[in-house]
Amino acid sequence: MIEAIRTRIVVIGSSNTDMIIKADHIPQPGETVIGGEFLTAAGGKGANQAVAAARADRDVVFIGRVGADVFGQRAIEGFAHDGIDTDYIIKDKEAPSGIALITVSADGENSIAVASGANARLSPADIENVADIIISASVLLMQLEIPIETVRRAAQIARAHDVRVILNPAPAQPLDDLLLSRVSVLTPNETEAEMLTGIKPADPAAMSRAASSLLSKGIEAVLITLGAQGVFVATSSLQELVPAFRVKAIDTTAAGDEFNGALAVALSENKSIVDAARFANAAAALSVAKLGAQTSAPYRAEIEYLLANFSY
Ligand code: ADP
Repeated sequence: MIEAIRTRIVVIGSSNTDMIIKADHIPQPGETVIGGEFLTAAGGKGANQAVAAARADRDVVFIGRVGADVFGQRAIEGFAHDGIDTDYIIKDKEAPSGIALITVSADGENSIAVASGANARLSPADIENVADIIISASVLLMQLEIPIETVRRAAQIARAHDVRVILNPAPAQPLDDLLLSRVSVLTPNETEAEMLTGIKPADPAAMSRAASSLLSKGIEAVLITLGAQGVFVATSSLQELVPAFRVKAIDTTAAGDEFNGALAVALSENKSIVDAARFANAAAALSVAKLGAQTSAPYRAEIEYLLANFSY
């Protein structure tokens, strides 16, 4: 029984609705640009990573806050559609669902304004209420679009019960040593690695220095994602650049989210850290070869096919 439960992945994080206008150009202050095309999409790093993990074929529980509004309801329906357990999502009557207003120009530039809404109200007390769910997980996966004290409390509860904590430190912000010491696997991109260490991981020697500086905080494995280059994997016993799969990049939005969701799945299946990085590279490559964030998240069979039939 315990074994069966311990295969679940718990994702604690943000859920947003992206409201996107594709316009000729991004409006200047005071300017109105007419003639655009409008679409909505489910987003938020937490939600994206939960969907990525669920499609990579693992039971996933999402813990977060949405507003008691139509956007929150739609987000919950989206999770359920991907088989994600939505029982612990709080519908907040005091705050609206998180919204990202995005303008994308014809030449692919974007401007984004985010109102975090209910996401900003996910509290340490909310986490304490679901401690049982966290401690029955095989892996806890988090990002930084919710209050940092909430991330801290969840990491503390997980580690006290030997649950592995994957932290994707995005968006970039400084983190204290106590929190870092409770992280099992840290997955910064290049910008985040530089923010956390002061070292720009521009070449293998610098990647090694940045990773070593993070490992010295007590983290088991540091995976610095490097876009089309792949990922630099470092533990106390190995350092290795695991190359990305070569694909024609159509849309790199949420590549990191796909990487983290798939990584959580691979680690919950007890794959080695390098095999897990390769699995996550494959999933992320598939997602960048398609348009969209959650809509481009690949299913397990597609990931296995890429792994079996293509080398880097
Ligand atoms: P983020 O989206 O957080 O900035 P990265 O850009 O480092 O993160 O991308 C995360 C992962 O996505 C990479 O480690 C790699 O596996 C995959 N990836 C990103 N861009 C590409 C690409 N152009 N081709 C293949 N894989 C990619």
